[in-house]
Amino acid sequence: MNNNLLKIAFISLSLFLTACGGSSDSSTEVTDSSASEGSDDSSASDDSSDDDAQDENAGLDVDATLFLTGENVSIDTVSCTLVNGTQTLCYEITSKHTAEEHDMGPWCPETIYDTAEEGGLWFDKGEINDLDGAFIENLATYYDDPGFKMYEDDGTVRRMETAEECAEGADPNIEDKYTNMCAQCLPEWVSTQVTYLIPITPIKQDEPVELSDGPTLEVAGVEYGPSVRGLAFNGVRFDHPADIDIILAGYQIAPVDDAGGHVNNSLGYHYHGDTGMTTRIEQSDGHAAMIGYALDGFGLYAKLDDNGNEAEDMDECRGHNDDTRGYHYHVLSLESNEFLDCFYGAWAE
Ligand SMILES: [Zn+2]
Ligand SMILES: [Zn+2]
Repeated sequence: MNNNLLKIAFISLSLFLTACGGSSDSSTEVTDSSASEGSDDSSASDDSSDDDAQDENAGLDVDATLFLTGENVSIDTVSCTLVNGTQTLCYEITSKHTAEEHDMGPWCPETIYDTAEEGGLWFDKGEINDLDGAFIENLATYYDDPGFKMYEDDGTVRRMETAEECAEGADPNIEDKYTNMCAQCLPEWVSTQVTYLIPITPIKQDEPVELSDGPTLEVAGVEYGPSVRGLAFNGVRFDHPADIDIILAGYQIAPVDDAGGHVNNSLGYHYHGDTGMTTRIEQSDGHAAMIGYALDGFGLYAKLDDNGNEAEDMDECRGHNDDTRGYHYHVLSLESNEFLDCFYGAWAE
């Protein structure tokens, strides 16, 4: 279970309840000032005086109109407190974690004779593999471990087939009956609704903060940022890295689909990498396409620009600044099992 996300959800709920009581801002759908105005972004936080919005490192205000709002995503404006103490306004984005613009799945092939179209992707060792039946058959060789045999003698792949198996089989201390099983949960087995807070006007801090890789990988005493990196425009979250070592230790694999996503029993569909299938905002100057927002409010862009090149002046959080987009990040790609591992911006507590 993801503590940070729960915390975000809890705080969001508190704010929601507060907002209901006050109802002062319940109907304001604040959209950003037009992008061409550049750094003139002080309108969203008139009541906060500690905001250096004119800084060359400022990002643009979050453009709520880019999100695919509707049945699966809704957005409200609420007051919020950022981790640096700033009182400001945030978008409260409520998501059902459903990708409307592309298919979700498939993940595990049904038999070892299936083609790549009938399975998803498995990423490890810095590479992405099509999860066809042959890859399942070859797992013992791929991992040089004869303990892998994820299929029956008739060629049927051992995979999670029910909501109950999905609920019980993903535990790190898995029972023997779940070893050598291809882990998958179907979207219809899991119903989630999670609320995220994103500051409307991002604020860059002096020092970056390392992001959590999930509770199992946190070191005691270290202060981490959120484990969720950001949101795609469909409201599905860009999540922390998959804990591949723990998955493999149970002789499981937990593939993603061709869009880089899979379903977690507790939190629903989420992405582990950008494969180009989510809604993208193409940039007229050839810059990499925008794919969503980081939880600190700065824009998230794809790794490569239209010519296949990566930006060269990025900081340690994969961020940089330009006149058109302000400060923004470029995510890694799926084989890295990470989008970005630190934030420069202050996220909402
Ligand atoms: Zn996952
Ligand atoms: Zn850029």
